[in-house]
Amino acid sequence: MARYTDSSCRLCRREGLKLFLKGDRCYSEKCSFERRGYAPGDHGQSHRKQNSDYGTQLREKQKLKRMYGLLEKQFHGYFVRADRQKGITGTNLLVLLERRLDNMVFRLGFANSRVEARQLVGHRHFLVNGKTVNIPSYLLKAGDEITVREGSRKINRIQEAMETVARRGIPHWLELDKDNFKATVKVLPVREDLTMPVEEQLVVELYSK
Ligand code: SF4
Repeated sequence: MARYTDSSCRLCRREGLKLFLKGDRCYSEKCSFERRGYAPGDHGQSHRKQNSDYGTQLREKQKLKRMYGLLEKQFHGYFVRADRQKGITGTNLLVLLERRLDNMVFRLGFANSRVEARQLVGHRHFLVNGKTVNIPSYLLKAGDEITVREGSRKINRIQEAMETVARRGIPHWLELDKDNFKATVKVLPVREDLTMPVEEQLVVELYSK
């Protein structure tokens, strides 16, 4: 599957905010955005933000897409699906993104970033309702149970992530049984639960042109 391979930190600098794409590094003084909080490239420091409606909508879409580590085609697919669902398209879009297995693994603190979560899922370290799932885009629903495979519980990356998750906290719609490496999706989140700085309505406007 195609994936973005350039520097993750450039994406934060381009979007003008920390997207937390690199786990521990994002919380340390090594964070590139902390040291160079301007856009990348030769003209980064003198770069002016686009003020047109299109420019603002585009940046918002790029920000959300990059936060979840998706490419354009995948991201647009979520929009199409969200638009077909009942309710508010922007909220539907955010909830669909949150339901991805790699995102849930990250939210639960089994991985330090969504990129790491995607790798761990791909390497078959997780069970969903007792069955191995190695598809990062697998959509979870309320009541689903995620477990770290017994043979994977000593993996350093998982152990380290579980030790450091406290600094970002676990959302209330997930329930973690840390001792048993097990978690449950209690309910799906509603818009108020999703506190990342995104104006999803701008994304809807962009794709609705
Ligand atoms: Fe973004 Fe993390 Fe890189 Fe900082 S360290 S610029 S938050 S990806």
